[in-house]
This record gives sequence, C-alpha cells and structure tokens, in this order.
Amino acid sequence: MSELNEAQQRVVDELGATAEHRPTFPDGLAVGLRQHLKEGLEPVVANLPPGETVFVNKFLLSQVLGCEARHLFELRRPFNWSVPVARGTVAHKAIELSVHWRTVPVANELVDEAIGSLSNDGSPISEYLRELPEAERAQLRSEAANSAQAFLDGFPPLRTKPQWRPAVEVRGRYEFLEGKLVLSGKVDLSLGGPSGDRSGRVFIDLKTGRRNRNHAYDLRYYALIETVRFGTPPRALASYYLDESRLVVEHVTADVLWAATERVIGGVERHLKLVAGEDAAEFRPSLACRWCPMLSTCETGTAWLDATHEDEHDILP
Ligand code: SF4
Repeated sequence: MSELNEAQQRVVDELGATAEHRPTFPDGLAVGLRQHLKEGLEPVVANLPPGETVFVNKFLLSQVLGCEARHLFELRRPFNWSVPVARGTVAHKAIELSVHWRTVPVANELVDEAIGSLSNDGSPISEYLRELPEAERAQLRSEAANSAQAFLDGFPPLRTKPQWRPAVEVRGRYEFLEGKLVLSGKVDLSLGGPSGDRSGRVFIDLKTGRRNRNHAYDLRYYALIETVRFGTPPRALASYYLDESRLVVEHVTADVLWAATERVIGGVERHLKLVAGEDAAEFRPSLACRWCPMLSTCETGTAWLDATHEDEHDILP
C-alpha cells in the first residue's frame, strides 16, 4: 500500500527530478541579468532625490502592469485587514508550523497556534488578530483551517521528508544601484537546493483562490531574485491551488528569466512615471474589476463587466 494518496503522489511525480534532469544554465547568465537590470534601470532612477529608494515587490509589479488607475488608487489607500485577506496569512503560518510539527498535525490545532503566534510577534497582522470580534475570529479560524487541511491532505507530508530540504516563507532581496532599488519577495515554500551550478530548487506558492496568470509572473520574479542573488536559478516554479489540490508547474529557462527582467524594468519605469505625474494612468479593465474598490465610480470597468458575459467571468484569467 502506498503511503501517499493520489493527489500527494501527483505532486511527487510533477515536481520530482533525478540528478541528470536537473538543468544547468549558460555561463554568465546571472552576470548578464544583473547587468541588464542595472543598465535598464539606471536612467529610470537617475533623478530620484538622494537617499530615496524604490522598493519593488510582486504586488507593485502586478498592479502597475495591470490597471494603472487602480494602482495609483491602491498606493494612496490605507491598508485594511479583513477575514478574506487574513485567511491566507494565517493558513500559511499554519502550514509553516506543520512542516516542523513533531506529531501528526491537525489543521485546527495548527491554526490556533498560528493565530496565537501571529497575534504576538509584532507582525503587521498582530493588532488586527488581537482585536478581532469573536464571530469574525470563528470565521477566520474556519477558513484558514480548511486551507491548511487541504494542504495536509493534498501535499506529501513534508515533516517526514527532511531530505527534500523544505523551507517555508523564504525571503529574497536584491539591492543595487547604490541602494536606489531593492527587489524583494517571499516564496511560500522552497524544496531542494542547488548543487554547484546544477539547479535543484523548486519554488512553490500556495494559492487559496482561483487561477490567475499573475501567479506565474510572481514566481518568475522570485526566480529572478534568486538568480541574481546566488548565481544559480531554481529549476522549477509551481503554483499549488489548495481548493483543487492541483499544481501548475513551469520549468525555468534562461528566456523565462530574461522576460522577468524586462517585466521588472518596464514595471518600475511605469510606476515612477505615474507617481511623478509625468503620464496619465490608463484604465485597463479585466475580470479584476469585479473586486476593484473603484468599481462603483469607474465607467470603464462597469462597461467592461456589463459587456462580458457572466459565463466568461469564470474562464477569463
Ligand atoms: S474598475 Fe477596472 S478599469 Fe476601473 S479602475 Fe478598477 S480595475 Fe481599473
């Protein structure tokens, strides 16, 4: 009898690679990527006031390269926690704990420990969790436990696989141009590691919602940071959809990394132009208009949603 269920075995089959299937990349790739980032962004940040730094993350890039009008709005809007937003943070913490749990983990227990830990660790969510009314706390606990349980049921038990070198909430940062630019990111789960210049690491982001093409771009961005930091790219990138117990895997190539570099340069350039008021923000309607805080006053978004058949809402990226 297999120790893994069908969904767990599928993860092993889709992410596993023998030593000879772990890629190497062209010599000088990391050097070339660093150089391209530097040359592409040097003129863009040349006029920043002394001491000012542009902090780039996946959210900034996906926002500015999506609807620019919403990007500017979100930049100026104070951030508010809510149960749907907090759900992912708590579930990820619970999953992190499960990797190091010494007994068979139970989702509700993990979530309680996660809420307790996050309430007191001084993180941005701490105050929200400490002051959460009982009904909302119960809702958050229930939703986060569902996500954590989906991971426990669908992913191979990582606490029994130390040889896979699991690491959770892995942060990456790359600072350049005398500190004027900082690229940072945090991947939910990393498995494996490089062996010399032979790539072996897999980056996995855990997703509680539906599929979205930005998920692949986010992972490519992490892969770029990893490459310019260490010189060796990860070998594969995967989004794991908890509600479906499904992986979407992309194998890293030099082209993927060059494309990620172009996206960073294009995103930062556009962001600085918009913030400086040098260009008018474009309205770019998409399915995301459904959740946009500007929708009630946005004619472009409203017209786009009205013209898009309800059935298409479920298949558009
Ligand atoms: S409703 Fe759509 S088009 Fe309008 S600002 Fe929001 S995202 Fe942009």
